Amino acid sequence: MYYGAIEAGGTKMVCAVGDEALTIIDRLEIPTTLPEETLERIYAFFDQYSLCSMGVGSFGPIGINPDKDNYGYILATPKKGWTAFDLLGNLKSRYSIPFAWTTDVNAAAYGEMKRGAAKGKKSCIYLTVGTGIGAGVVIDETIFQGLGHPEMGHIRIRRADSDRYEGTCPYHRDCLEGLAAGPSLETRTGTKGENLPEAHPAWELQAYYIAQALMNYTLTLAPEKIILGGGVMNQGHLLHKIRRQFIEQMAGYMDTPEVNEYIVRWQLANESGIIGCLLLAKEAV
Ligand code: ADP
Ligand code: ZN
Repeated sequence: MYYGAIEAGGTKMVCAVGDEALTIIDRLEIPTTLPEETLERIYAFFDQYSLCSMGVGSFGPIGINPDKDNYGYILATPKKGWTAFDLLGNLKSRYSIPFAWTTDVNAAAYGEMKRGAAKGKKSCIYLTVGTGIGAGVVIDETIFQGLGHPEMGHIRIRRADSDRYEGTCPYHRDCLEGLAAGPSLETRTGTKGENLPEAHPAWELQAYYIAQALMNYTLTLAPEKIILGGGVMNQGHLLHKIRRQFIEQMAGYMDTPEVNEYIVRWQLANESGIIGCLLLAKEAV
């Protein structure tokens, strides 16, 4: 029994085949170019296997409401060629097997809950701080969705008094993503996050904004764990700053687990998404 998984990102596509234990037995990473070209390479990889199902976690926004015409589509993305592309429909017409379809961050949240940092819990939030900011939510061991998937990277947060930076979000300018994603950090400081010294004041601002978001998520959803991932979170010191800010901002209002247990780094690292997709594939059978 083989299961297929695709973590579809705006930069790269990760494809994997897992066995019954969901151990990855083959894997392919390709750049995300135009849809047709990218799909040809994906097909060439999966055609080698007889799969019983496939799980896809995609960059978004995507249509995930099965009652809507845009189910399975990639929606308003700035990525050239992918807006209104029927990714799931194309995959389904190539492979007549059951599919699971969700966002990349939902898949990662699910992977982390079943096999990573939130193992043994029934709920968690996974937040990625990278090129964009996005979150996946698992409640009662089920990926949460309503009208569509939540867009928790675009929430409004309170600006620091000293912050004059306008923000990078093309829709909202200074939403969380606009103020605290990797590109915003870079434009704000003139230096990529990976090269920015630990003592730079932008890190404290970064922590201030992310902690506000975590406080809002905690107050609205009360997850058992918050897991942080994405390129910017490679800065170990940032996690400590976020935890400190979180405690300060919460001001003891709500009873949450000890902060080092509650706000943690991803455990499966770059594998959370693909493992989540494999788990969802297996459950789709
Ligand atoms: P994506 O979000 O496109 O999947 P990443 O999660 O790697 O990719 O995020 C890329 C962003 O993270 C870029 O803005 C980059 O500058 C920033 N970044 C990558 N590595 C680091 C690091 N070690 N420290 C701080 N920022 C980083
Ligand atoms: Zn926004």
